[in-house]
Amino acid sequence: MSQYNKPLPQITPQTRELWEGCRKHKLLIQRCRACGTLRHYPRIMCPSCGSWDTEWVKVSGKGKVYSWTVAHQAFHPAFIDDVPYASVIVELDEGVRLVTNIVDASPEELYIGMPVEVVFEDATSEIILPKFKKSSWLQGISSSQIVR
Ligand code: ZN
Repeated sequence: MSQYNKPLPQITPQTRELWEGCRKHKLLIQRCRACGTLRHYPRIMCPSCGSWDTEWVKVSGKGKVYSWTVAHQAFHPAFIDDVPYASVIVELDEGVRLVTNIVDASPEELYIGMPVEVVFEDATSEIILPKFKKSSWLQGISSSQIVR
């Protein structure tokens, strides 16, 4: 593993399960025990019913590109070699959205509804980041062959 020099997420009591799941290559999402609503980012209280009773569930890791923005300028020195890069919102099949990157698609290849699946990127020995790649059935298909 090469030296990782980008900013890292802070592990907090609310996010610890998420990062421990990623270390085991499992994408875990919070679910309200009172009403069943899934939520991400992790937080203490259910935004639907206000309950603090929470559990963590493993999700499929499959989803679709919901939206994205492209950074053409590095806002931190560690990203200089990455520009232009896309910060992408992926909507999981289970309905929650998370901000991530698509590791095997350039910004020009992205489209809304693009099927993706989670991969886990080792940042440090403690932090494994959930990233996404094109779904396996899209591998080997160029974007010009896809009817949108
Ligand atoms: Zn709830």
